[in-house]
Amino acid sequence: MQLYNTLTRKKEVLTPVRPGHVNMYVCGITAYDYCHIGHARSALVFDVLVRHLRASGLEVTFVRNFTDVDDKIIRRANQEGRDWKDVAETYIAAFHEDMDALGVIRADKEPRATEYIREMQDICTTLINEGKAYATPSGDVYFRVRSYPPYGKLSGRSLDELMAGARVAPGEEKEDPLDFALWKAAKPGEPWWESPWGKGRPGWHIECSAMSKPYLPLDIHGGGQDLVFPHHENEIAQTEASCGCELARLWVHNGFVQVNSEKMSKSLGNFKTIRDILESYLPETLRFFLLGKQYRSPIDFTPEIMDESEKALNRVYECLREARKGLERASWKKTPLPQDIVKEWQELGPAFHAALDDDLNTAQALGHIFSQVRIANRLLEDKALRAAEGSREILEDLLRRAADWTARLGMFGQDPQTFLIAQRDRRARRAQLDIPAVEALLQRRLDARAARDFAASDQLRDELAALGVAVRDTPEGQVWDLI
Ligand SMILES: [Zn+2]
Repeated sequence: MQLYNTLTRKKEVLTPVRPGHVNMYVCGITAYDYCHIGHARSALVFDVLVRHLRASGLEVTFVRNFTDVDDKIIRRANQEGRDWKDVAETYIAAFHEDMDALGVIRADKEPRATEYIREMQDICTTLINEGKAYATPSGDVYFRVRSYPPYGKLSGRSLDELMAGARVAPGEEKEDPLDFALWKAAKPGEPWWESPWGKGRPGWHIECSAMSKPYLPLDIHGGGQDLVFPHHENEIAQTEASCGCELARLWVHNGFVQVNSEKMSKSLGNFKTIRDILESYLPETLRFFLLGKQYRSPIDFTPEIMDESEKALNRVYECLREARKGLERASWKKTPLPQDIVKEWQELGPAFHAALDDDLNTAQALGHIFSQVRIANRLLEDKALRAAEGSREILEDLLRRAADWTARLGMFGQDPQTFLIAQRDRRARRAQLDIPAVEALLQRRLDARAARDFAASDQLRDELAALGVAVRDTPEGQVWDLI
C-alpha cells in the first residue's frame, strides 16, 4: 500500500519496521467538548486505514491518546465550577458514544496524558541533561529549538520564517522566541504534579512523545492537517532529540471539513457536532459522506450533500436487497452473459482494492462499488440476462464483495430491508411527519382491505397522500414511503 507522507511530500510504500505488523499512533481529542464533524472525519479516515490494513492481512497496533489535562479543560471546569477530571471523563465518555455510533473500531491502546506524567518528566530531564532544554527560575521547561537543526522538516518551514511569527508572551522566560514549553509551572487553581522543577503540569506536545514511546519507531503517525505545525513538528523534535531515534516513518494527515463552504467555528454558529448530525441522518450516511472524498482533500458539509449521500447509500442497499431476492429464484438457464459484462465485473474487484492501496482513495473505491451496483442492477432488471447462470454467479459474488466492503469501509453491512426502513424513518423525521398519525391511517387501511372495503381503502390512500405519504401494496404487504 502507498500513503502520502507529509514529511517527504510524496507517496511512499508502507513497509513496516517489523514485517507484517504496523504500529500506528493517531493524536486523539482534547476532552473538553463534544466531538464535531472534523473529529468524525479524522476518526473515520484512520478507522478505514486500520480496517483496510487488517483486511489485507497485516496486524495493526492502533494507539489513539486522550488529552485529559489542558488549558481548555481547566477553563471549562472553572467556568462550570466542576473538577477538571470530571470534565475530561465526561467528554471521553461522549467520544466513545459518538464513535461507537459511527462504527469506529476502538483503538487497541487509549493512553491518557495524566497516566504518563513520569515518562514526560523523564524526557524533559534527558533533554535538559543534553543541553536541548532548560528550566526557568519560575519552573517552566522549554525546548531549545536551535539545538535540533532539522526543526521544521515536517511542515517545511525554515527557522527564519518561524522567527518572523515567533513572540515571547509577557511573563515568559524563553531564551529564544522559537522555544516551546515542555512543562509549565502550575498557576494558582490549576492541577499540578511534583517535578524536579517544582509543582507543574505538562505542555501539550510532550504528551504524545511520552505516549508513543513504547511503540517506536511508528510505522504511521496520523492526525488532522491542523496538527502538522506546531504539534507534530514539536513531537518530532522532542522524541528525536531525546532518544536519537526516528519517531515515525509515514506522516498521514487528513484534510479539513468545511460547513457550507465556510471554516467551521463556534463564532460563525456553524459548528456541527456528531450528535447534531445524527439527529437527522443515520451514522452510515455521515460515514458515506465523509469517505466520499479522498482523505487529503477538503470536504464541504451541506444538508444537500447529506441528502445526496443518503440516496446514493440507499442505491447500494436496494441493489443488495434485490440481489438477495434474485438469488432465491430456483432455476437458471445456461444462456451466456455478454463478455463485456463479465470482463468488467472481473476487473472491478481488484480495482476496488487498488484504489484503497493508492493512498486510501475511498472516493475512487466507492466509484468502483457503484460500477458493480450498476452491473448487478442491469442483470436484475433485464429479463433475458436475469435468468442466465452467469448472472447467478455475479450476484453471489456481489454479496461476497459486499462483505469485503464492510470489512474495509465499515459500510453496507446491515440487513438491507431494515436499513432502508431506518433511512425512511430518518427522512420522515426531517420532514417532521406525524408518524403516529400515519401509522394510525395505515392500520385503518389494512383493516379496510381485510374487510374488502376498497372505497374506504382508496380514501385512506388519499388521506395519506395529503400527509406526504405514498402507500403501495406488495407481495410482502403494505409499504409506505415519503412522496
Ligand atoms: Zn499528538
